[in-house]
Amino acid sequence: MTDCLFCKIIRGEIPAKKVHEDEHTFAFEDISPQAPTHVLIVPKKHIRGLKEAVQEDAELIGHLQLAAAKIGRQRGIEEGYRTVLNVGPKSGQSVFHLHLHLLGGRDLLWPPG
Ligand code: 5GP
Ligand code: ZN
Repeated sequence: MTDCLFCKIIRGEIPAKKVHEDEHTFAFEDISPQAPTHVLIVPKKHIRGLKEAVQEDAELIGHLQLAAAKIGRQRGIEEGYRTVLNVGPKSGQSVFHLHLHLLGGRDLLWPPG
């Protein structure tokens, strides 16, 4: 999508610190990290958010989670990390290109608030 921040990052039009890339996913450091590890993992396909995802996106969404597990392993944060999808404005979703947050490297509170 032309006018989407994360599509622009995927295309390299806006700089970001790339963490991982494969055929279907792209991962980069969050610009405003909320934990020592805060990586955003996004599908290369523009999907507005989880509630707009359809059945054919199921494998892709699983792929995002497995990419998070791989990064968690590489970062040595397997004692505790969290993957989060914010869905809709009341959850704090501010960028409307589906993205999985990977947060770790510190104690994480529950419930998250
Ligand atoms: P949301 O609140 O939509 O779940 O998450 C959006 C995330 O994108 C936020 O954590 C925010 O810090 C991050 N973000 C917003 N703009 C940029 C940017 O230009 N570059 C990077 N790397 N992250 C961004
Ligand atoms: Zn997009």
